[in-house]
Amino acid sequence: MRRAVYPGNFDPITNGHLDIIARASTIFDEVVVAVGMNLGKSPMFTAEERMDMIRQACSHLPNVKAAMYTGLTVVFAASQGASVIVRGLRALSDFDYEFEMALTNRRLDDTIETVFLMTNAEYSFLSSSLVKEVSSFGGSVEGLVPSVVVDFLSRKLR
Ligand code: ADP
Repeated sequence: MRRAVYPGNFDPITNGHLDIIARASTIFDEVVVAVGMNLGKSPMFTAEERMDMIRQACSHLPNVKAAMYTGLTVVFAASQGASVIVRGLRALSDFDYEFEMALTNRRLDDTIETVFLMTNAEYSFLSSSLVKEVSSFGGSVEGLVPSVVVDFLSRKLR
């Protein structure tokens, strides 16, 4: 059984994330979408809300589950029995950071491999920050995020 962890902030989950999750779910037996509780950032949604949105958006994918974690991603992955970390790549601008993280994670635990899935061209411009910015100014994010996220955003911004 090959299990993969897909870590991120998912604040909130977008259709770009969902596309990576759906594709990863066809490659691996199980995908754990892992919400990082990063102390340095102040998210719009609590970790529980982010997990709730992921669970609802992925309810059609039986081999996908959501979890939250603090600390090192490789330690969390090992605790889940996962041998792979999945990350998405949008543009060249993602590369430096992702390269650094992947090499650091390999140094920390060389039994865990980082696998990159290339964004779907349709979502290559899409980020959680863009979604938050557009919706905070009253713009529509319909089609950019799962419908559960539209509801969560409108409740949060009301
Ligand atoms: P982080 O702060 O850990 O990068 P994010 O939630 O922003 O957390 O992203 C999690 C992962 O999903 C990252 O690997 C990121 O590059 C990827 N990702 C984000 N948006 C997209 C998208 N539109 N298409 C493909 N991958 C994406």
